[in-house]
Amino acid sequence: MLSVCRSVLCCVLLMFCLPAFTATSVESLADPRANGGSRVANPDSLLSPATVAQIDAELAEIERATGVQVAVVALGSVAGDDVFGFAQSVFERWGIGRKGHDDGALILLALAQRTVRIHTGYGLEGVLPDVVCQRITRELMLPALREGRYDDGMLAGVQALRRLLLSGVEAGQSVAAGARPALRVVELMPRTEPEAWLTLRWFLAAGLVIAGIIWQLRYRPGEPAGGPGLMRLQDLPKPLHAAVFTGLPLLMIVALDRLHPPGLPWLALSGVYLFYLGAALLRARALRQRLDAMFERSEHANIARVLNDERGFWGLMAAIFPLPLGQNRFAPEVLARGYRFAPRACPHCAQPGMKRLSEAEEDAFLSRIEQIEESLGAVEYDVWLCGTCGGHSGVAFAQPDAFHSRCPDCQGMTRELVNDEVRYAATATSGGSGVRHYRCRACNKRTRETYSLARLASDSTSSSFSSSSSSSSFSSDSASSSSSSDSGWGGGSSGGGGSSSSW
Ligand SMILES: [Zn+2]
Ligand SMILES: [Zn+2]
Repeated sequence: MLSVCRSVLCCVLLMFCLPAFTATSVESLADPRANGGSRVANPDSLLSPATVAQIDAELAEIERATGVQVAVVALGSVAGDDVFGFAQSVFERWGIGRKGHDDGALILLALAQRTVRIHTGYGLEGVLPDVVCQRITRELMLPALREGRYDDGMLAGVQALRRLLLSGVEAGQSVAAGARPALRVVELMPRTEPEAWLTLRWFLAAGLVIAGIIWQLRYRPGEPAGGPGLMRLQDLPKPLHAAVFTGLPLLMIVALDRLHPPGLPWLALSGVYLFYLGAALLRARALRQRLDAMFERSEHANIARVLNDERGFWGLMAAIFPLPLGQNRFAPEVLARGYRFAPRACPHCAQPGMKRLSEAEEDAFLSRIEQIEESLGAVEYDVWLCGTCGGHSGVAFAQPDAFHSRCPDCQGMTRELVNDEVRYAATATSGGSGVRHYRCRACNKRTRETYSLARLASDSTSSSFSSSSSSSSFSSDSASSSSSSDSGWGGGSSGGGGSSSSW
């Protein structure tokens, strides 16, 4: 009863397992090419006759073009379960590859061992290093073999070898000389880039190009950049600057995407990213040098104005390049504070060690209007006192503020907007106008200014106005076929190179 159960179990197991093949020993494996026959040994008929014929044709082409001999052995099972040892023994016994060149390869499928191996001769280890064999077996052959499609699996391996070896010949290289094939193994791999990545890639590329355009818009040629060498990029004429900073990266992205080298678009994108990062760092350095020079000339208010002007640009750069430009020390506000409170020499006696006065102390040095400006927050004043000569110097920092403007009477930044009335609203057919009423907090002078409103766009309800008073804007021997024609293998030997993959 027990034995019946066991045999039933065995039968059931066998149904789900591989069919039982008798193990083939090296000695019992007949060399199909011994008499000028096929390069494929297929004693268990794992491969269809059509596949054997196709593989034979491809292997013959490889040998004709490169001299490299490749044998294919498909077995149900190898004796001793040692696939590597079996491959090495067959290699030596048959002598695959030309004598002296040792440029042979053996593709061995051992079904019961669930293993496929590419075994290479000494002379092929440069062209087909183990890692390449590994990728071919694992990524190109195993998927089909695992599903029982032995024809497809073995053909995929043979075709990969053919493409790799022939690419070297097309590039004029000698396979036997150990030259690398012109084709890289990744180019044989199926492209499995997910759609989302492609989209993200284009999104990033578009972002970089927009960054380049903004970069371009901010570029003002002729600004003293200061510094030698690469800093001179700042002095390029505008069209050349546009070509370098926008055209070049754009061209790179488009060209590489059209050429479709797998993996390379990401590399190119990284390159463009690093290019802009490098340019941004150079620009940051040039800016620092320019500001340092201004500091030397005691143009403290100018430093604040330039940094305020650069805030938007560097905010964008910090967002695109969080490392390192997101760091605090690159922020214009931090830089402005640094320059504002940096110790300085006296402009009168050139001695170092001036002291910055407190708000209460500095009032003695400020006029009434200046004090009102400071109390309104329209202008910030610093007064520095020299301990050596007793001289002082003041710095005025105008605060960007839409609420205060310069009084035409007393010239203080003390004029406040009291009322803004629209007299005629703009319509789709005609523009409108309005009046702004001001009062000066220093001299009490009342002023008013009219402004016009732009005609409404027909498809929009939002009104954009342009002010008449405002003026600010933001701005071989390879092909020599083997002498050992088709009468058999050439007598090459293997050092055991290659790689197996199992499933
Ligand atoms: Zn002094
Ligand atoms: Zn006034």
